[in-house]
Amino acid sequence: MSTDPRDSEPAGGEPLVPVTAQTEAELARAAAHSAHNYDPLPVVLESAQGVWARGIDGVDYLDLLAGYSALNFGHAHPRLVEVARSQLGRLALTSRAFQHSLFADFCEAVSGLCGKEAVLPMNTGAEAVETALKLARRWGYDVKGVPPDQAEIITCAGNFHGRTIAIVGFSTDPDAHDGFGPYPPGFRTVEYGDAAAMAAAVTPNTVAVLVEPIQGEAGVLVPPDGYLRAVRELCDEHSMLMLADEIQSGLGRTGETFACDHEDVVPDVYILGKALGGGLVPVSAVVADWPVLRVIGPGQHGSTFGGNPLACAVAVEVVRMLGTGEYQRRSRELGAHLHTLLGALPSDRVTAVRGRGLWAGVQLAAGQPPARVICERLLARRILAKDAHEGTIRLAPPLVVERDEITWAVAQLTDALS
Ligand SMILES: *Cc1c(COP(=O)(O)O)cnc(C)c1O
Repeated sequence: MSTDPRDSEPAGGEPLVPVTAQTEAELARAAAHSAHNYDPLPVVLESAQGVWARGIDGVDYLDLLAGYSALNFGHAHPRLVEVARSQLGRLALTSRAFQHSLFADFCEAVSGLCGKEAVLPMNTGAEAVETALKLARRWGYDVKGVPPDQAEIITCAGNFHGRTIAIVGFSTDPDAHDGFGPYPPGFRTVEYGDAAAMAAAVTPNTVAVLVEPIQGEAGVLVPPDGYLRAVRELCDEHSMLMLADEIQSGLGRTGETFACDHEDVVPDVYILGKALGGGLVPVSAVVADWPVLRVIGPGQHGSTFGGNPLACAVAVEVVRMLGTGEYQRRSRELGAHLHTLLGALPSDRVTAVRGRGLWAGVQLAAGQPPARVICERLLARRILAKDAHEGTIRLAPPLVVERDEITWAVAQLTDALS
């Protein structure tokens, strides 16, 4: 896409984009043969570059979801595509039965980014969370001395950590949780943002707390100042591991490399995913120091695809890109612009705007249409955005977004709200 797609149709008096018959037909065809575990907005994308994605209707849409932060560097970032392309033709999969030539680079890069000693690579976010839970339990038995099968892990209400049985077992979202039991025991859920509630749930068998530094799916909820620090202190006091799920909040999204950085907090375990794969491949990782990670030995955990050469090549490049601080700075500066504009939305339509950096949850006032309807209106204004729970619109553009694109997008949102 050589020219800025917005040039043809200035903001303000733009004609609304209709859903074409071809788009309707494609959606119906997909719905006829796919599980209905998603309810996609009526658009069918066929190509994308940077922050713009093109539909089969030939329309360019500004992507303000960025694959739930998997696309922090935008679609098809040239550096990442180049690295992936060249690795693809050289060596893509070995399994961990054999070492490959990019594995050490990956482990050095990702552990270095986190200031930790070692990495356990997986593929999806949910797998990395599961890995962290297993790691914490094993550490609890081997290091902390918790009696066999008695380990407890504290989780937070409103959490989103993925879709496996163990993870949905401690979800407080009825859609995610209900009807999939029985669930593994050993989890206690407390209010998010309430360190006293967490402290009250600690027992001698508590081995870890699992926390999102900002709760994304819950509506971009930023905890009260000092919360992460209090969680850190609680973990130190009771010899528990702090497991930070930075899958969505990490890797530049909030204006720092990690959302924990905003409180100068270093968790025992970083859980990474999404943007670590550069928007090209699924790559996730659990990152910790040796006293924790060494409790997992050969045969005790693994993944056929985890740490594969293609994944490693892309992730190494992702870490290099983050190493300059440019993306974190963009998120900080452009995020300030985004939040200034969002803060000026009429208070009878929007009651709160939460978030940090290029990440915002726009809370709709009572009496407003559901967030889903606003997202459909945004789609007609050539913007891809997603509701997070009924009343919140989540905005998380790729960190390569330009200032005037943000300005344009908020103008469209203002229009969609009226
Ligand atoms: C997306 C997400 C996950 C799950 O990642 P998948 O790759 O979808 O399994 C876990 N935790 C958080 C905070 C997430 O945003």
